[in-house]
Amino acid sequence: MVAIDIIGGGVAGLALAAGLDPQRFEVRLHERAPDRRELATVYGLWPHALRALQMLGVDEKVRACSHPALGAAVSTSAGRSIGRTRAPDDSWLVPRPDLLRVLAEAVPPTVQRFTHAILDPATLDGDVVVGADGVHSVTRAAAWNRPARRTGAMAFRGVVDGSIEDLVPGQQGLHEFWGRGSLFGISPNTGGRTNWFASTREFRATPEEALEWSRRHFAGFPTPVHTVLKRAEPGHTLVNPIVETPMLRSLVRGRHVLVGDAAHAMSPNLGRGACEALVDAATLAQCLSTLAPADALRAYERRRLIRGQTLRLASGAVRRVALHWP
Ligand SMILES: Cc1cc2nc3c(=O)[nH]c(=O)nc-3n(C[C@H](O)[C@H](O)[C@H](O)COP(=O)(O)OP(=O)(O)OC[C@H]3O[C@@H](n4cnc5c(N)ncnc54)[C@H](O)[C@@H]3O)c2cc1C
Repeated sequence: MVAIDIIGGGVAGLALAAGLDPQRFEVRLHERAPDRRELATVYGLWPHALRALQMLGVDEKVRACSHPALGAAVSTSAGRSIGRTRAPDDSWLVPRPDLLRVLAEAVPPTVQRFTHAILDPATLDGDVVVGADGVHSVTRAAAWNRPARRTGAMAFRGVVDGSIEDLVPGQQGLHEFWGRGSLFGISPNTGGRTNWFASTREFRATPEEALEWSRRHFAGFPTPVHTVLKRAEPGHTLVNPIVETPMLRSLVRGRHVLVGDAAHAMSPNLGRGACEALVDAATLAQCLSTLAPADALRAYERRRLIRGQTLRLASGAVRRVALHWP
């Protein structure tokens, strides 16, 4: 049997553990915080992510707990339209906790789960060691010596009670407003909730301070922004710096391989990070299932390196345009 250590049980790590055949692989999943309660902010899932979920046999379950994505519109802070697009068929908005639950339920019982933080991947003796450990990956730090870097921007996001139909009558899908060195977005969520997010230049703020700042800063923005911010609560608000991986020229070093944000953490502006994490996991599972480990890792890198790095650059470019909109 081929032994595989997966560091990180987030989107990529759970998806990979779900995709590996228990008859052929001895899988050990190392996650430092498996029971962390997560805020139900949504991920946009594009059709290629649904195809990856189909390879794992869970696409129907994910659709069942998602909201259709419908489309996206971008306006200025004065409400003038910048652009609008219809979402491709089979695009969805899924709350992160629901996606993680469906993936966790698909992990075979033979997978050994360890609750601990891996400090040094060299201590693991798997034939393959997978860094699925997110943007601040210890695997990337140890084998590539390439730490993540802050972009100088930050994101606030949260969930409010009330469906989008009730809070913003007439809005279909996601709507972003760009201006004053910031953006504010509103999108549907499931369960009678609405999702919101904002981004601006980085400063230090608690959720309370971020909301106070937002209410002042976005005061001149269109009415839906105020409606949502009035309902936002600090306990349902997250504040993060936006952090990206540096340019990587390889995803494989010896028996180490990177997937998901460990390989290509990107600005959230294209809504692609979780999608690419799912495609990485499904692709790596497929390569490992058909090739010897060393060949499988090389095949995975050929299929995934350029796409991840390109999307990382493209997402950063959209972030810069949005945050420089007058
Ligand atoms: C504001 C914002 C909005 C976003 N919106 C979208 C969107 O609409 N669509 C989309 O596709 N993506 C979106 N993303 C991106 C998405 O969140 C990530 O790309 C996705 O979570 C990556 O999955 P991952 O498994 O690589 O990392 P994670 O989901 O971060 O999982 C990493 C896991 O590794 C564990 N871990 C870390 N270090 C260790 C260690 N040393 N030992 C053991 N365990 C460890 C962590 O606890 C965690 O569970 C957004 C991100 C942000 C910040």
